[in-house]
Amino acid sequence: STEIQLIRRPQGWPVAEDFRTAVVDHPALQPGEVRVRNEFISVDPYMRGRMNDTRSYVAPYPLGEAIKGGAVGRVVESASEELPVGTAVLHQHGWMDGVQAHADTFRAVPEIPGLPLSLRLHILGMTGLTAYVGLTAVAGLKEGDTVFVSGAAGAVGSAVGQIAKLLGAGRVIGSAGSAEKVTLLTEKYGYDAAFNYKDGNVRELLAAAAPEGIDVYFDNVGGDHLEAALDAFNDGGRAALCGAISAYNTTDRVTGPDNMANLITRGLRLQGFTLGSYLHLGQEFSERMNGWFADGKIAFDETVVDGIENTVDAFLDMMRGANTGKMLVRV
Ligand code: NDP
Repeated sequence: STEIQLIRRPQGWPVAEDFRTAVVDHPALQPGEVRVRNEFISVDPYMRGRMNDTRSYVAPYPLGEAIKGGAVGRVVESASEELPVGTAVLHQHGWMDGVQAHADTFRAVPEIPGLPLSLRLHILGMTGLTAYVGLTAVAGLKEGDTVFVSGAAGAVGSAVGQIAKLLGAGRVIGSAGSAEKVTLLTEKYGYDAAFNYKDGNVRELLAAAAPEGIDVYFDNVGGDHLEAALDAFNDGGRAALCGAISAYNTTDRVTGPDNMANLITRGLRLQGFTLGSYLHLGQEFSERMNGWFADGKIAFDETVVDGIENTVDAFLDMMRGANTGKMLVRV
């Protein structure tokens, strides 16, 4: 099979020379092993952090190996009773069109008639759970709260607005990077108001969209967006710090918001989180999300790039905002 390996640590924005496409031959199956043909591969912002050789909540990617990450596929050869040929599986082997490994490293997932397996990589999987956990366990969303979400048209953000509404939020405001995305936020994803952060100063745009202030901020972006939220917060406001994508590809020193004193005067709580610490909420999330989904209350989008050889471009395009909803590579 063909896989995409990291061969050099990127400085700032990754370039093609940081990666290599390699062809791997698989030996005959050992007992307990399966061979899986991938259908969709996930490209995610956190992967940029793992390309650096710095201490973080997950280890850096080793050089010369395939980029690890979420993917879904189907068993095409099996020496395991648990995963017969044809089983749909979710796994973390990453950027490759096929993989052979022990059955333990794959998880069988139920198929939903008429829907692609790719949903397990976003709305019914990791990014959906991130949205749910951030709103509930981290930000402590209460009925009637005014919620602001940055990166609102992406995989996590498009779920956050809808889940917030379903959990009883009052006004929900989103920001995204194009006029088309802003339209989708209010017309498809249940946002009450939205703005394009490229149209001006985020502090002013948010103040105009949330004249009565905000109670919860779901931060996917950091930087100017976090600063704007800190100004817009009502007393007792809470932020779930989920990501800070505005800084992932900069080589400059990242400066913090200039209004941190608001935490003191307004009694604000900012809490960062990584999903790994909240996986115990997966079951609760699945039950609620499956219900909402079956009731037709959840909208989603995918931006799909075809071909394993285009994975690096898909990853970079995602970080530049080319995606609406989840960015995926179809193998
Ligand atoms: P998205 O689908 O949201 O894709 C990334 C988006 O970020 C782009 O589409 C782009 O949209 C936006 N963006 C890029 N640069 C900037 C910028 N400078 N300012 C504002 N927006 C920018 O990705 P995900 O939904 O997968 O992830 C969203 C965030 O959630 C990321 O920060 C990620 O790291 C974080 N995350 C955290 C997890 C955790 O456990 N804490 C788990 C999963 C994700 P636009 O056109 O609007 O600019």
